[in-house]
Amino acid sequence: MFHVAITTCIESIVDAHATLDEADALAQRVIENLCSRGIILPTQQTHDYLENGPRYATGPNAHLAADNINDVFPCGMDISIGRNVFDTGELAFNLFCPNCKHQFAADAMNGEEPVGRWYESGDVNRLGCSECSSSTSFMDWFHPPFGFGILAFCFSEWFLKQEFVDHISELLEHPVIWVKAQY
Ligand SMILES: [Zn+2]
Repeated sequence: MFHVAITTCIESIVDAHATLDEADALAQRVIENLCSRGIILPTQQTHDYLENGPRYATGPNAHLAADNINDVFPCGMDISIGRNVFDTGELAFNLFCPNCKHQFAADAMNGEEPVGRWYESGDVNRLGCSECSSSTSFMDWFHPPFGFGILAFCFSEWFLKQEFVDHISELLEHPVIWVKAQY
């Protein structure tokens, strides 16, 4: 049966350490590597129903990076430079205390405020846990993890392989956060 996607899946690889000063050069390093291996193309993704597709189209060797690529729906890679929050979209998440692992419902505490403050100013606020009284960076509370970063590679309708995510981390020489979102 022919299936038309009515939701979009976006998987993002977020550099956890990149600064704004180095983001352009790091992005270029990854783009050159992926283009040279045919994983992406240096041209914009086009599609009959798409006005502004991702900046880099799916390449002939994209299967090296992704287990599955939805070819019914437009796909490709975009790059995000600048402070940005990568959340799970419509997929559910919970808050876990990183210290005692107690789980809080997403709406049980005000996790949005530190997210907003980081987005505005880059401040990394801490969340206090009512169970163990520890206080830890708000960034570590989200499960599945959210990505907070200056540089990210966003793949529309690609279902990435772990080894590819590891490869990007090696190219960047930084830890990365792998965020899966649905919209
Ligand atoms: Zn706790």
